[in-house]
Amino acid sequence: MISHAVLLRYHEIALKGGNRHWFENQLIHNTQKTIQKICKSNTILSITKQRGRILIHTEQNFEHALVYVFGLSSFSPVLVLPTQLEEIKKITIQELTSIMSDPVPPKTFRITTRRSDKTLVKSSVELDALLGAEVLKHFPQLKVNLKKPDLNLGVEIRNQNTFLWTRKHKCLGGIPVGISGHFLCLLSGGIDSPVAAIQMSKRGAKISLIHFHGAPFIGNEILEKIEALAKIISLYQPESVSLYIVPFGKLQEQIALNTSVKVRTILYRRMMIRISSELAKKIKAQALITGESLGQVASQTIENLVNIEAVSLFPLLRPLISFDKDEIIELSKKWGTYETSIQPTLDCCTLFADKHPETKSKIELLEREESKLDLNKLKDVALAETTEIPL
Ligand code: ATP
Ligand code: MG
Repeated sequence: MISHAVLLRYHEIALKGGNRHWFENQLIHNTQKTIQKICKSNTILSITKQRGRILIHTEQNFEHALVYVFGLSSFSPVLVLPTQLEEIKKITIQELTSIMSDPVPPKTFRITTRRSDKTLVKSSVELDALLGAEVLKHFPQLKVNLKKPDLNLGVEIRNQNTFLWTRKHKCLGGIPVGISGHFLCLLSGGIDSPVAAIQMSKRGAKISLIHFHGAPFIGNEILEKIEALAKIISLYQPESVSLYIVPFGKLQEQIALNTSVKVRTILYRRMMIRISSELAKKIKAQALITGESLGQVASQTIENLVNIEAVSLFPLLRPLISFDKDEIIELSKKWGTYETSIQPTLDCCTLFADKHPETKSKIELLEREESKLDLNKLKDVALAETTEIPL
């Protein structure tokens, strides 16, 4: 019996001892969920583990969904056939006959055999030579080119089945989402924070999102943008993603009415971190993420970053800390968030803010200014008014 399937590969390097099953099962689960999410279907796929590989049998075309699954290194559409030498030879020639009838057929080829089953007497080098000779017998116009062939014909020989493939598509690499814990990312409408969320997804993080909205001083257009960005981030997250919206304008107004304009932006940030910490506790997230990068703007000097972090109850992760804006823009194009991020909208941080904020804030001054406010009350009110949007 010969069937069509898709063979998924992942880097074995990510597997550490006893983690193998967990990693593989999570990757299978994520692949299934991502295909359902992106293809908008509930079909349960037939997915099986195959010693360092995953095999999916389905009629459905789902290849475009695989580019969102972190943990996969590549995939190939394959023919699955019984591991018998005569059968492998026959099907190889059949495959090539169809490929050679393409309008632009390949001129050069190579055979790449991998053999995890040793019951076939031949070694992979012998099999390469044997199948290569068979191909040349049928298609004498083809030339062997080991370095840069037009066609690479892959043959993976397993216990019972052999996989035959001619196309290999690169995937994203990384670690399957869910393996590394749960993180809460502070999402603004800018370029950086969506990239930060996806970079952390690549390291296996399950992500929840929190946005601080300057209502009633800032309109609802920003929320559409935030939701659009969150939806793109959620493509890389197999499970549904929670987006939390915190009405923040009234709180900012209190800060603006009562404290020094020089440190306002830092005080906003410290309130964001306090509120995010409380939410993280509630949803059992293990760390916070921001899109901050050292020296990018006045609020991102080391002094200010330290003073912002000081109020966090959780580790505050900044995956973009060392990146230039150009590098972040490149990543945002790669992940597909750039076009949405550059839509012009107002962020709450600009509300009542100074054009030249303090770059070397002193913790004593920040605390003195904050003592003029009822921080706990402001925090509790904001949390009580927070709404959750599942995506
Ligand atoms: P971004 O492009 O992500 O907006 P930025 O370069 O504009 O970043 P800032 O505006 O200083 O930098 O924001 C730094 C980080 O603080 C953001 O990356 C984000 O994580 C967080 N942040 C800023 N504003 C908000 C907001 N309104 N809601 C949630 N998080 C925010
Ligand atoms: Mg911003």
